Amino acid sequence: TIAFLNGDFLPLSEAKISPMDRGFLFGDGIYEVIPTYQAKPVGMKGHMARLKSGLSAISITNPYDETQWRDILATLVEKNSPYIPSGNIGIYFHVSRGTDSKRFHAFPDNIAPTVFGFAFEIAPAQPLNKHDVKAFKVALEEDKRWQRCHIKSTSLLGNVLHFQTGVEQGVNETILHNSAGEITEASSCNVFIVKNNVVYTPPLDNQLLPGITRSIALEAFTRASIEVEESRFSIDDLLNADEVWLSSSSKEIAPVVEVNGMAIGDGNVGDMWQKAIKAYHDYKFIA
Ligand code: PLP
Repeated sequence: TIAFLNGDFLPLSEAKISPMDRGFLFGDGIYEVIPTYQAKPVGMKGHMARLKSGLSAISITNPYDETQWRDILATLVEKNSPYIPSGNIGIYFHVSRGTDSKRFHAFPDNIAPTVFGFAFEIAPAQPLNKHDVKAFKVALEEDKRWQRCHIKSTSLLGNVLHFQTGVEQGVNETILHNSAGEITEASSCNVFIVKNNVVYTPPLDNQLLPGITRSIALEAFTRASIEVEESRFSIDDLLNADEVWLSSSSKEIAPVVEVNGMAIGDGNVGDMWQKAIKAYHDYKFIA
């Protein structure tokens, strides 16, 4: 496949970054993953706004304006289409603080950010029928990451370790709760529950990433007259929910049928999921 590195498009196998890059040494950078289907991106405006605010939060100058980012994305999709014939293409963008001559924690003066992008195949758009969708099983554990989870940092060791807990339990993801027993998000997704036909998702704060899929879903549900509330809920609320869903750019809205070995609802994908995914598909390219 074809990658983007510091202004050039080149084969991914030829893209090289110095080991002195602060992205490598410190995880000092910000990233984004943008889903595209048949060359149409989903949530580009939201992804660009989150990238901009993440870079600003860690004092890295945004190397490109939105038009330039859009052009890079379009070129990556076009150049990679022959390698990914399904047309379900995720674009990864990564901006690190750059390469320094020494390893010293303080921000160096006058280094240029390293900008990297590559393309990879994502799952096809979710089906509309609940009998055709892959149902997820998840683990549950206390969030042991840092206190700035709203920043889409490339330092993902905390997320990796939480995700691995799920893998070791033979499930697909790990839902996280804080020390007060409130659900926040999952290791690589946001979380929704449904109770009595009302959809709930935790409000945005420093404990979770402001997922673009989450925000498109909230808007889509409102447009489709699905009742939705941003409010905190507990582990008990999660386990006693009628339905549980995960959201992320690569999964869209994914139904969860088992948490920590316990069935959710009747253990099958629910009817509200079907309504939700229809509402999401109707709105996702407009968002
Ligand atoms: N939460 C975490 C920790 C994530 O890593 C991600 C994305 O990968 C999400 C939530 C979902 O965000 P988005 O919908 O923007 O992909």
